[in-house]
Amino acid sequence: AKARGRNGYRLYAPSMAGEGVERLRLEALLRRAIEQHEIWLAYQPQVDIESGRLTGVEALVRWNSAELGQVPPARFIPLAEETGFIDQLGAWVLNEACRQMVRWERAGLRVPKMAVNLSGRQFDRGGVAPLVGRALAETGLAPQRLQLEMTESVIMNTGDALQYINDLHGLGVQLAIDDFGTGYSSLAYLQQLPVQTLKIDRSFIKDLAADGASQNAIAIAIIQLGKSMDLSVIAEGVETEEQAAFLLRHGCRRAQGYLYGKPVAAAQLLAQWGVGARR
Ligand code: C2E
Ligand code: CA
Ligand code: CA
Ligand code: CA
Repeated sequence: AKARGRNGYRLYAPSMAGEGVERLRLEALLRRAIEQHEIWLAYQPQVDIESGRLTGVEALVRWNSAELGQVPPARFIPLAEETGFIDQLGAWVLNEACRQMVRWERAGLRVPKMAVNLSGRQFDRGGVAPLVGRALAETGLAPQRLQLEMTESVIMNTGDALQYINDLHGLGVQLAIDDFGTGYSSLAYLQQLPVQTLKIDRSFIKDLAADGASQNAIAIAIIQLGKSMDLSVIAEGVETEEQAAFLLRHGCRRAQGYLYGKPVAAAQLLAQWGVGARR
């Protein structure tokens, strides 16, 4: 029985020790996961709502542990960040995602854009631009076909964020602000950032209701903001035709979510979107 407080405060010493061991085990397994080929990337389609065309994919890391089964990223990404393993993991993800674009192209599927998530810690230490540069050089992927997603909180909590973002921009890659609307970026600051895309957080899409409902206000405001700042806007977590129609009506043309496809392995994405695929 675990009585767990929000701040990691726990009532019973035995469970505390148990969780410490559990965490160490998880950490040890995670450190070997790449070489054991337990880490892989799932890809989720991003589409133009009106035409249904594929505009890109987002790479989402997966860990299929021999000992633990599927471990969700919400569990191992924070651990990887705390332990520093995110440097290795992040580098692997970047390289693999860029390589996959080339493999699909050889197989006859041209995915216009690959979106990859950057974590705060990766970003923090300034080393991310060289890493991205290397992944592009090794794979020959055109920089404008790589989009890096960073959350608002990562940007706001990183000193020198503007410098790091400018370095990335200098490589010619595209930049998106992930989970937009959930953080606290000031509009003045946003205007200085060389980003091209705002990604509306799923929480605002989930709540969309009939026209005129007050909970629609944030999604509409973000779409308007994107328009006035000349940024592209994409909605995440789109699950229903109603949500898609709402977005289109309000001027958001791009979406990602279960309505268009769940994150799937590379071969499956090819089967679903490649030559001869019937959708
Ligand atoms: P995120 O970047 O906001 O990714 C979107 C999450 O929403 C993914 O969860 C995706 O599977 C899920 N999703 C997509 N469409 C729908 C939908 O229509 N409905 C619902 N209910 N969910 C949907 P996932 O794959 O579990 O990833 C969770 C988070 O883990 C990501 O959130 C991201 O912050 C992080 N993450 C995943 N891969 C990486 C990675 O390679 N590097 C880093 N640093 N973080 C990653
Ligand atoms: Ca993301
Ligand atoms: Ca997101
Ligand atoms: Ca989100």
